[in-house]
Amino acid sequence: MTDFALEVRDLYAGYEGVPVLHGISFEVKEGEIVAIVGANGAGKTTTLRTVSGLLRPKSGFVKFYGEDVTGLPAHVMVRKGLTYVPEGRRIFGKLSAKENLELGAFKEESREVIEQRLEWVYSLFPILKERINQKAETMSGGEQQMLAIARGLMSAPKVILLDELSLGLQPSLVEKVLQIVTEIRRYGVTVLLVEQRVLEALEIADKGYVIQSGRVVMSGPSKDLLESEEIKRAYLGM
Ligand code: ATP
Repeated sequence: MTDFALEVRDLYAGYEGVPVLHGISFEVKEGEIVAIVGANGAGKTTTLRTVSGLLRPKSGFVKFYGEDVTGLPAHVMVRKGLTYVPEGRRIFGKLSAKENLELGAFKEESREVIEQRLEWVYSLFPILKERINQKAETMSGGEQQMLAIARGLMSAPKVILLDELSLGLQPSLVEKVLQIVTEIRRYGVTVLLVEQRVLEALEIADKGYVIQSGRVVMSGPSKDLLESEEIKRAYLGM
């Protein structure tokens, strides 16, 4: 048995003719919150897309609870228990909050189970219960981000990948949304998140990886990274 929910080794990936990841490696233990941080364009989204099966790596491997899942398509990964919440939310604006949530449980056939999951996500995000029949596009940015996370949780993942939750949110909401991540972990969901907001992400994570131009340049327990002079200078503006 492996200790790792997710083990990524020497991942190379990119887009047609554009190499982006140059040998990324990291591990996530069950129950951890792990943050991958770095500047715009460092390759954070590409990392999550590759791990979640939306993008095939050129080389390297991804193991999920010890099983080699490298290159498996995203819908297979969801069934295995790994769900990706994309950057920019990608919710269906014309559908209601509830309809968006139900789409997240697409692999589930039992109505009873879907209802239980809805109750679970409403307990995490009470505001969504108030918005049940509201069109998603009419919700505020913060509410839409909560809806996107909740939709991801509707698949009852073991591991959830969260892409840039803070994007486009006002500062007061960034902390609120990130605090919800710590709640998610209490339900036994392991979290891998990527963020440009280095400080806020490391504050809630157990461990962090700093990536630059598709390579891990620093990693360690979040509290060590937060104390690092290099991080303070390069990312925290101190
Ligand atoms: P951001 O916060 O801006 O999303 P990021 O760290 O997540 O940054 P990526 O989105 O992974 O970075 O992008 C890494 C590099 O890959 C960038 O140079 C970007 O221009 C390039 N890239 C991203 N998507 C594509 C694509 N579909 N086709 C070609 N190049 C792409």
